[in-house]
Amino acid sequence: MSERAVALVTGAATGIGAACCRRLAAEGLRIAVHYRSSEEKAQKLLAELPDAFGLRADLADSDQVDALVKELKQQAGRVDVLVNNAGYNINGPMLTMNLGQYDAVAGLARGTWYLSKLVLRRFMFRKGSGRIINISSVVGHTGNAGQVPYTMVKAALDAFTKSLSQELAGREILVNSVAPGFIETEMTEELPEDIKQAILARIPQGRMGTPEEVAEVVAFLATCAGYVNGSVIHVNGGMYGG
Ligand code: NAP
Repeated sequence: MSERAVALVTGAATGIGAACCRRLAAEGLRIAVHYRSSEEKAQKLLAELPDAFGLRADLADSDQVDALVKELKQQAGRVDVLVNNAGYNINGPMLTMNLGQYDAVAGLARGTWYLSKLVLRRFMFRKGSGRIINISSVVGHTGNAGQVPYTMVKAALDAFTKSLSQELAGREILVNSVAPGFIETEMTEELPEDIKQAILARIPQGRMGTPEEVAEVVAFLATCAGYVNGSVIHVNGGMYGG
């Protein structure tokens, strides 16, 4: 049983997830680094973080989610913070997309729901308190051409935040979303230069954000902010305020 509070961060080997791990570790939490395919990056990150441990799972596969939670229980015996950061996108016009592509994006949302349910059991039955932070996106609010399934999933994630926070009202379990704008990660690195320039033109601060700027808001929700619940905090350089 871990003495220190434990944070499980999903999709933690890269980008925003890795920044969240570093920031939460600096706040004194023990980190469970979840990854799916980025094994090497996860191992490098684990080497940086004191007492952290790795958990591999494809969150779209419920058996693997079951196994992840079992392993989390064995490794730490507790979980205090869940950062639902893993996300997946396929860009393309709706008319050319097929059901398999839709399922690839939406399957992760299903897995996020299922993982949260299993983690909630731990929160409720062991300690009765905890924090869930969902990483959604500005495009779940504004929409974005070429991202119909992704924007549907991100809008649903913010609705999940609101409904679950109400369902758990009265317990010491707070559920919030952080909705990043455009952030410099592998996800945005892949965008063609003309699209990047079009994005920059829409950001009043004139630059993309950094993963660290998202992670500091996540850390605020994970360690302070005791009266913030069911909220969506936008981190987007002024492009959308909710
Ligand atoms: P990223 O580096 O591509 O991270 C996404 C992570 O999700 C990866 O580490 C990946 O794990 C994990 N993942 C994807 N599908 C998975 C699955 N089926 N099961 C388990 N894990 C899965 O991108 P990022 O930019 O840091 O994104 C982090 C979050 O922020 C995502 O939810 C994204 O939608 C959101 N976001 C990003 C931006 C942005 O501009 N970058 C803006 C708004 C919102 P593996 O690599 O191990 O497979």
